[in-house]
Amino acid sequence: MKLDLHMHSTSSDGELDPAELMRFARHQRGLDLVALTDHDTLGGLQAASDEAEKVGLRFVNGIEISSLWAGRCIHIVGLQIDRENETLARLAGGISAQRSARAVKIAEKLESLGFPNLYGKALKYARNPAIISRMHFAQALTSEGHVEHLQQAFDKYLGDGMPAFVPTLWPALADAVSAIRGAGGVAVLAHPGRYRLTEQWQFDGLMADFQQAGGQAIEVVSGSQSAQYTGICLAAAERFGFYASSGSDFHSRQGKRPLPGAQGEMPAGVKSVLELLKL
Ligand code: AMP
Ligand code: MN
Ligand code: MN
Ligand code: MN
Repeated sequence: MKLDLHMHSTSSDGELDPAELMRFARHQRGLDLVALTDHDTLGGLQAASDEAEKVGLRFVNGIEISSLWAGRCIHIVGLQIDRENETLARLAGGISAQRSARAVKIAEKLESLGFPNLYGKALKYARNPAIISRMHFAQALTSEGHVEHLQQAFDKYLGDGMPAFVPTLWPALADAVSAIRGAGGVAVLAHPGRYRLTEQWQFDGLMADFQQAGGQAIEVVSGSQSAQYTGICLAAAERFGFYASSGSDFHSRQGKRPLPGAQGEMPAGVKSVLELLKL
């Protein structure tokens, strides 16, 4: 079975709208099972679910929540959440407000770096104006010719700790996990290899706190981390008793990230997160 449990649509910072994404996943990528996991919103789930049913694709309601742990932004994917859950919707709404306030500050920083008027331009790329992302600023910087490509926008200006980076008060990791569990979902630590936790004690500290909070699975295979992390994450999953998840973190057909379902094979014999999902 070909699956992808981490993908984005225009409801956050993806290129394809939820229905287009489902058609692409089914017809162009031949997938059998997908989750839509937009950043901090439940907004695309109904449309995606309806289209998935039409094209014969098994669909899991998802979300990717921005959270804070030890001063870092850590992404928690919720799988098979109740998309009507009010507590989760409220948490997402709070994050969306933080995103809007942050966007103003990012634009101010970019202005002081010599790039004026980017707020409106970034907002135009945000097809869901409630979820304005650094990705939309990266698109605006690229289209204005200030950088050559999206990655350069992150590397030079928008990436963590770079000159236009604005620290944001995301909810605590434990609160994000609670909201997902409270909405009947499975909490999955997204792309553990992407947080630059270079010391083993930092990496294990995140795993231990995620487990303590009620976290159940980690992304062992992810389009957002280098393949060398598959082994590291597999070992961590075994040590901490986590189930293993797999997703491309698909955003767009351009760029170097894998297309839906192309994130790589799950090693044989792993305890799959599918065991926790009611399919
Ligand atoms: P945000 O959630 O608005 O802070 O934006 C983060 C999004 O930008 C992520 O979901 C990725 O899609 C992208 N992103 C963040 N950091 C980087 C990076 N260093 N390189 C490329 N893309 C990144
Ligand atoms: Mn993104
Ligand atoms: Mn992420
Ligand atoms: Mn993602």
